[in-house]
Amino acid sequence: MTLLSRVFHFLVFVFGTLALSAQITDPVATEVWEPEPKAVSPGDATLAPSDAIILFDGSHTEAWAHSDGASVNWTLDQGILTVKAGTGAIFTKEKFGDCQLHLEWRSPTEIVGEGQGRGNSGVFLQNRYEVQILDSYLNRTYSNGQASSIYKQSIPLVNALRPVGEWNSYDIIYKAPSFNDDGIKTNSGYITVLVNGVLVQNHTEIKGTTEYIGLPKNVAHGNDVIQLQDHGNPVSFRNIWLRKL
Ligand code: MG
Repeated sequence: MTLLSRVFHFLVFVFGTLALSAQITDPVATEVWEPEPKAVSPGDATLAPSDAIILFDGSHTEAWAHSDGASVNWTLDQGILTVKAGTGAIFTKEKFGDCQLHLEWRSPTEIVGEGQGRGNSGVFLQNRYEVQILDSYLNRTYSNGQASSIYKQSIPLVNALRPVGEWNSYDIIYKAPSFNDDGIKTNSGYITVLVNGVLVQNHTEIKGTTEYIGLPKNVAHGNDVIQLQDHGNPVSFRNIWLRKL
């Protein structure tokens, strides 16, 4: 490129930029009106928003089943669903991908055990990626395994748990990983978690399955169920709803 040509291109760039910014003089030019977000009635601490899929509202457990398809055998009493130790995890009947998930949980009022043995459950997105549920109020365990950790992957920014016997809320925004036709992961999953309204996982990259032993695995999958874990402790749940994203 000759010097003359370089100067010419530079001048074209400068005048082009000036022309572009000069031609926008009307504020309306940068307004975007479509699409219009549809109106949704927000919930409050106990009510789901109007466009949510209700997974548990206290009246029944129809949205869930055990791994063999059997009806939920956990204890449903006065609108509260409690893990019955040994009956096994429960799974949504419907499979999900990207979603906003809300649930409320409470650890057993009678404190039994310590560390991972106290009020342990968990919510698994796509049946693979666990957001830990644990009585982590004055109960030390490994940081990447305490409540609201992405189990064995990501330590929560803070511990925002309420004392034993009080309800905690999890609000989770989940972006599923994607895989190509060869089964290779092309985009990681990401997860954002608020505990009792406090941000504890900020667009955290999910490295793969949340394994008790060993490193995360990345085997291709599509939409899948949400799991609530039976870890042998009578953890209670209420107000579980989801919005597909
Ligand atoms: Mg767990």
